[in-house]
Amino acid sequence: MPEALIDDFGKTVVAWQRRHGRNSLPWQNTRDAYRVWLSEIMLQQTQVTTVLGYYERFLARWPRVTDLAAASLDEVLAQWAGLGYYSRARNLHACAQAVATLHGGDFPRSAAELQTLPGIGRSTAAAIAAFCFGERVAILDGNVKRVLGRVLAFEGDLASSAAEKRLWDHATALLPMQDVDRYTQGLMDLGATVCTARSPNCLICPVQPLCRGQQQGDPTRYPIKTRKLKRGRRENWWLWLEREGQVLLQQRPATGVWAGLWTLPMYDDEDAARAALPGAQLQTLPRLQHALTHFDWVLHTLRAEVDGGNTPDGTWVARETLPAYALPAPLKKLIEES
Ligand code: SF4
Repeated sequence: MPEALIDDFGKTVVAWQRRHGRNSLPWQNTRDAYRVWLSEIMLQQTQVTTVLGYYERFLARWPRVTDLAAASLDEVLAQWAGLGYYSRARNLHACAQAVATLHGGDFPRSAAELQTLPGIGRSTAAAIAAFCFGERVAILDGNVKRVLGRVLAFEGDLASSAAEKRLWDHATALLPMQDVDRYTQGLMDLGATVCTARSPNCLICPVQPLCRGQQQGDPTRYPIKTRKLKRGRRENWWLWLEREGQVLLQQRPATGVWAGLWTLPMYDDEDAARAALPGAQLQTLPRLQHALTHFDWVLHTLRAEVDGGNTPDGTWVARETLPAYALPAPLKKLIEES
């Protein structure tokens, strides 16, 4: 990479961020690693507008990392419900406990140490270290891969770890000598607001004069990643049983999809669902479709009011106490809307 590009790129991103970047989000203008970490974990695969409410509620309930560490996993999952990617919530809780017990309640101050904590990958560790402790270290999340992939017209296929490592090296080489925190935020802002996946707004982009991908005419060619996720499809049947204002819930196993969350009893096919409550009058509700990372999930619901007798195993929960349970988003919506 030419020296001039390295120098210009960093300065341009920093200057642009100062004037046009996002500077008043609730997790900005602080060096409190707890707040920054919480926002970074919540923002993985989730839009800022969705995260805002969750972030405020988490902080109101658990103002310090030690408060979060002392909470039960069920409480954390219940507060997280609706944000998706629930392994993040389990790691969040495990990380808070590790900070409380192994580090006396203070986050470690270097990216290398932060990366040893549960749920903190290389890029997240770098973001926390840059924002909170001013460490000169590169991030490379999905947005930044896109921006750098385009600016450099990076021909490596990011499906290969060797190519990804080369892009990490470029990201490190591009780091400015100063203002790494603002530069890091600037890259994130560029990726989120200007150099978007499908329609990069090159006309207003501050690094357009340096962008090789744009100069070649088709920046959306980059970043290159050949291995496409093959999406599957699943179909299941829920049994929604109510008895005297209570709903029957089952807790999902500790691993797999929706691990540890509470759902209605779930079956692989309609016959199995009906066989769980022989002879019952079951109402068929409109089916739901829910997209997860690897598959589309079609969920059918059969509903009945019961008055005792044999019902599937589970926990009867009063409707008014349902908010205390970690329900997956589609179930929460189904119950709220009925
Ligand atoms: Fe992205 Fe276009 Fe800017 Fe290049 S010029 S970084 S493609 S928005």
